[in-house]
Amino acid sequence: MLQELEFQVLEVYRILDAAVAGFAARTGLCCPDGCGHCCSSEKVEATVLECIPLAFALFRSLQAELILKRLENDGHERRCVLYRPDYTEAGVGGCTQYQYRAVVCRLFGFAGNHDRTGLPQLAMCRVMKERTRGGPATIKIDDAESPMPLFVDAGLRITTLHPALGTVRLPINMALREALLKVGIMLALTTPRTPSVLSDHEEPPNKPMFPCPPLGRRAA
Ligand code: SF4
Ligand code: SF4
Repeated sequence: MLQELEFQVLEVYRILDAAVAGFAARTGLCCPDGCGHCCSSEKVEATVLECIPLAFALFRSLQAELILKRLENDGHERRCVLYRPDYTEAGVGGCTQYQYRAVVCRLFGFAGNHDRTGLPQLAMCRVMKERTRGGPATIKIDDAESPMPLFVDAGLRITTLHPALGTVRLPINMALREALLKVGIMLALTTPRTPSVLSDHEEPPNKPMFPCPPLGRRAA
């Protein structure tokens, strides 16, 4: 089931990326090269479901155990563990898992929500505000061809896939940890083991030769 959810979430990401690309092309909004201000924020949140593709990617690239250790050792750290800052320049850095980043990481700076009167408003980031003369008011958002993406729509797409995993938003490190544990357990239970080969004169051991590491912390 988790694998199916992975594909479904990736399909939502494909749709969101196309919407962001269309909106960015029409409005000219873009991030300056190397900007990582939003990733260095301690307020990035995601649902566990959004982190399922990330978790699979980390298991496939054999980085899952390392990231889990970092999440456990730096449990107090709220900044995303996947962000790599460039220590030579403040606010510059990059995502080490860009292809699998969460919903807010895809939309931030290029999306908005309805205000109290029901009108869509762009939630422009501080960096873009400084670069765009006149701020969000100068951006035409009600365009039929490439409308502004809405955070609420993206959230609904995710929630609809699996309400139990796709509704509650957690600090991104907590969401990623939960996703890694879930995917780890699933892989531990479903990955076939290689049968041990005994020579003719060997007795079978009376206990496992290779004790299983704790479920969920094994690389695939
Ligand atoms: S959304 Fe804003 S803060 Fe984030 S990378 Fe782009 S310009 Fe920088
Ligand atoms: S997942 Fe990537 S894009 Fe999102 S906050 Fe972490 S480092 Fe930034």
